[in-house]
Amino acid sequence: MTTTATLTDTRTFEEKLDLFAQVAVNVGLGLKPGQELVMTAGLETLPLARRITEQAYKAGASLVTTLLTDDAMTLARYEHASTESFDYAAKWLYDGMAAAYASGAARLAIAGGNPELLSKQDPDKVGRANRAVSQAYRPALELITRHAINWTIVAAATPAWAASVFPGEAPDAALAKLWEAIFKASRVDGADPVKAWKEHDANLHTHAARLNEKRYSALRYRGPGTNLELGLADDHLWLGGGGTAKNGYYCVPNIPTEEVFSMPHKDRADGVVTATKPLSHLGTMIEGIQVRFEKGRIVEAKATRGQEVLQKLIDTDAGARHLGEVALVPHSSPIASSGLIFSNTLFDENAASHIAMGQAYISCMKDGDKLTDEEQVAKGLNQSLIHVDWMIGSSELDIDGVTATGTAEPLMRGGEWV
Ligand code: ZN
Ligand code: ZN
Repeated sequence: MTTTATLTDTRTFEEKLDLFAQVAVNVGLGLKPGQELVMTAGLETLPLARRITEQAYKAGASLVTTLLTDDAMTLARYEHASTESFDYAAKWLYDGMAAAYASGAARLAIAGGNPELLSKQDPDKVGRANRAVSQAYRPALELITRHAINWTIVAAATPAWAASVFPGEAPDAALAKLWEAIFKASRVDGADPVKAWKEHDANLHTHAARLNEKRYSALRYRGPGTNLELGLADDHLWLGGGGTAKNGYYCVPNIPTEEVFSMPHKDRADGVVTATKPLSHLGTMIEGIQVRFEKGRIVEAKATRGQEVLQKLIDTDAGARHLGEVALVPHSSPIASSGLIFSNTLFDENAASHIAMGQAYISCMKDGDKLTDEEQVAKGLNQSLIHVDWMIGSSELDIDGVTATGTAEPLMRGGEWV
């Protein structure tokens, strides 16, 4: 791989990769001496996986175990396996992962697979295989979603992903460009990336804390094609950046992360909102989304492209027409300023202020996990099988916070924090 030619600063590609691995292990994971690490990675992400392994041992890891997957082997199953095969998952493996986490192991995932790997495969087989894995993975995933352990996700550039982000570029050039974009978005291009991350993380916490203190009852959005009042759930919490897992270790679960996010009230959105970026959903691009809300429900949905997919999406179930997440991201964040569509949630969800249709995060409600389902819903939590984020932020978006007494205070102007 020849990537040094496109570097904009004096560090070599190998040096940047090493710094990125340091950020992944020391900031993302917060790996502690003596802790085990379970890593999952695609074969094409090996250069980063090896660096992370080195850094993990340098940080005192007792053992690094990496589970590798290969695209060609995944496709071989779709081509040659019996139809019954697609209801199977390696339960023993996921049980083993759950056992590892339960006994104190940290978890790192390297994302960056081919976003279209399965786009030509039988959707029924893809759906069944996903379901089988979801079921088998549930015990392990629960430890992660309950934040029982320190965990993180980082991304590595791969040829197929690079080709989809930079179509028309030669493969080597596309790969080099994607790596550069990942380094920049992951804040490893500065003088001291670990220090930069500590500052950035503190900054996200400051914004979240300020919003939690304000206890706004709603946000008001104004911009081209957007005039929306979005109510926040009762006892909503703003979250952002890293947190301390139940095992006592501090981690930043997503590298990069730029969002400060909370829970909208499912029945309290009114007005019109227009997407500022296309939404890549299940291999289809949905462009020019504009929806109108009445009492939290989407009553009108248009798209200049992919209208049918959008319509199917909001018809998934009753909750698909209501909001489950609201997130604020300044327009000057490194991902937004790259102007790229990564077709990868880790990046695209951090590219701009966004909202999500569908399921809400219970962590965004104070003591929400102690409430019954009915109590959660009564406070405004939305339930759905989907959770689909789409971007509404831009340099032209103004956002006000509306207090319980109806006073509007400027929160963001021209896409930036006030
Ligand atoms: Zn989000
Ligand atoms: Zn989301």
